[in-house]
Amino acid sequence: MTLASTFIADGDSDYGRAGNATWNAFEEIVGALEGGQALAFASGQAATTAVLDLVRPGGTVVAPQHCYSGTFTELHVRADHGLIDLVLVDVTDTEAVIESARHADLLWIESPTNPMLDVADLETTFAGLDDDDRPILAVDNTFATPLRMRPLDLGADVVIHSASKMIAGHSDLILGVAVSRDPDVVDALHSLRTLHGAIAGAMETFLAARGARTLAVRLDRSETSATMLAERLSEHPAVERVRYPGFGPIVSFEVAGGVEAAERVCRASTLLTHATSLGGVETTWERRRRHAAEPEAVPEQLIRMSVGLEDVDDLWADIAQSLAP
Ligand SMILES: *Cc1c(COP(=O)(O)O)cnc(C)c1O
Repeated sequence: MTLASTFIADGDSDYGRAGNATWNAFEEIVGALEGGQALAFASGQAATTAVLDLVRPGGTVVAPQHCYSGTFTELHVRADHGLIDLVLVDVTDTEAVIESARHADLLWIESPTNPMLDVADLETTFAGLDDDDRPILAVDNTFATPLRMRPLDLGADVVIHSASKMIAGHSDLILGVAVSRDPDVVDALHSLRTLHGAIAGAMETFLAARGARTLAVRLDRSETSATMLAERLSEHPAVERVRYPGFGPIVSFEVAGGVEAAERVCRASTLLTHATSLGGVETTWERRRRHAAEPEAVPEQLIRMSVGLEDVDDLWADIAQSLAP
């Protein structure tokens, strides 16, 4: 692991804000998974804001009507400051997305969306935006992971991840990554990273590279359990609605009885951890609207559950006792 801030002159890197061999090892892994050139960032949020910085002041950004709250807030701050025109869309309405994005500067898509798990048809959306005047096509691929969806293959210009989640997978670091095949986009993002200083720590990239080695088995296990739990939840009388896109570790569901019931359920668990974040080896759940920044379109009683690697029957036993009145 390379921790140095400065390097002997005339080598690959001269100062640690511009490059680091331990970042490169992590970037090679994610680049290979997504099929592009990857750049590590200090966090998913840092990768997101670097991509948003590709839009010139006054540009138009088309984004989901609900998505990760940090992205949602950042988009609204930029719009409130008059830096961008923000157009919000339902990402499942492919025709409307294409119409809104046709003359925009950036189309930002999250799919499945956090935490409503809406899935966008990226292939049709991007195929409908193939003229010269098209926007930059960006996808937050944190929820699908490159093992379930490769947006660059479908026509995206840039993909970002919160590597804090599934890629690193152990809830022990904050890290982001952006990936592109377009050398101009890679150069621009590299410059923004160096100038803004939103750089990854060497330790974080080292740990994330180690975590990525088990991504496939963790994802398979979590997904199998998530599928079973989504089915059992949908048959439970205390559950009004289950959202599960059919892949991945995240299940969102709404409990009967509103905010109080949802809070009570999350606090009643003994095996599931009542905590934010997702994509770790341990199962976590929380009522998303307990965060003030969460989009209002997210129902108050919605619980987002990130399924980890525990025994699925142990998980169900704890969920069932938590749901019991
Ligand atoms: C967590 C998350 C982010 C932000 O990533 P950080 O690493 O926490 O900065 C962005 N997008 C999605 C979908 C997320 O879940």
